[in-house]
Amino acid sequence: MVFKKEDYIEDFNEGWCPGCGNFGIREACYKTLVDLQLNPNKTVLVSGIGCSSKSIHDFKCYGAHTLHGRTLPVALGIKLANPELNVIIHTGDGDCYGIGTCHFVNTGRYNPDIKLIVSDNAVYALTKGQASPTLKKGEKPKALPLPNIKDAINPISIAIFSGYSFVAQGYAFDINKLSSLITQSIKHKGLAFINVKQPCLTYDNIHTNEFYQNAIVNVEDIVILTKDLEKPIKVGLVKTPFSNYKAGELIVIEKKEDEKNCYVFEYKKANEFAILPKNKAEELIKNGYARKITKEDWNDALIAFLAKISSFIPIVGTIYTNEENSTYEERIAETIKNYFVYPPAKQIICDKEGKPTTKIENLLDLFLV
Ligand code: SF4
Repeated sequence: MVFKKEDYIEDFNEGWCPGCGNFGIREACYKTLVDLQLNPNKTVLVSGIGCSSKSIHDFKCYGAHTLHGRTLPVALGIKLANPELNVIIHTGDGDCYGIGTCHFVNTGRYNPDIKLIVSDNAVYALTKGQASPTLKKGEKPKALPLPNIKDAINPISIAIFSGYSFVAQGYAFDINKLSSLITQSIKHKGLAFINVKQPCLTYDNIHTNEFYQNAIVNVEDIVILTKDLEKPIKVGLVKTPFSNYKAGELIVIEKKEDEKNCYVFEYKKANEFAILPKNKAEELIKNGYARKITKEDWNDALIAFLAKISSFIPIVGTIYTNEENSTYEERIAETIKNYFVYPPAKQIICDKEGKPTTKIENLLDLFLV
């Protein structure tokens, strides 16, 4: 049987505001399900509390709409009970990085084969727009009486350094790109996380679609210097003495023509990083001073650097992958004989009258020791 988009759509009114970024994320998920032909009977969607979490009712798959902040432990339980299932979480930044922080961090240690998609709109939209953990200090979306006085957390850094083996960032209204990231995350074996920048039209008048159209930088557009520059280069309105730096030490991100956007950060020791106008990056590449970043350039310093700049710039694309780490299910199977053949969900736990039949001796039989 070939599954079509209609086979995944459930007729449900989730009540989102017209133009909400969650529509884009939902569309990207439908596209991925069709592209990968995931069997709806073997796919479980898990959500928490918030606007985005209502999305799971729009899908004709199994689902668990759980408690605030508890998506990850519920998803982990589902996956461990039946490792055959595709387990995908869709929740929001308030749910996952606020009340759910402990689970967000700790699940990284397990590396289960679960996919976590987080709608990041920087506000608690369902409860009328209070600051969420990803709202930057000094920002004041319209529901706040004063600018935010707390620092924002960096979910990309937290995920990478907590053990997630696939980390990416997407944009809600770039449906094809987001779908491709979700596809990569599902194909990846292990705990995959995608932070999705999602405009909330109703409560966030700062991070609008227009804002993201100007601010987003694709990871694929990052270039690296290949030759020492002989003379200073003009970056936006700032003259930066790039000539002080050696080939391979300077990372430049290709950017749309917009001289107002000019960032300079430290990279490695005293090196600098800058966003260049697109024509300047092209000029460097054309003259052999820079090239697009390749797989060989990825190392711990670069990954840490990308995680760091994701606090300042909405970079979009795959930021980190680790194919080496075994999944939690694989580690369980090393200890419990036949775990993949008889996981808990396939064991008979009661007779026809509903009386429990589980015997501890039978469970112990499953152990190799
Ligand atoms: Fe979307 Fe914001 Fe409306 Fe919630 S309040 S449905 S996040 S636009």
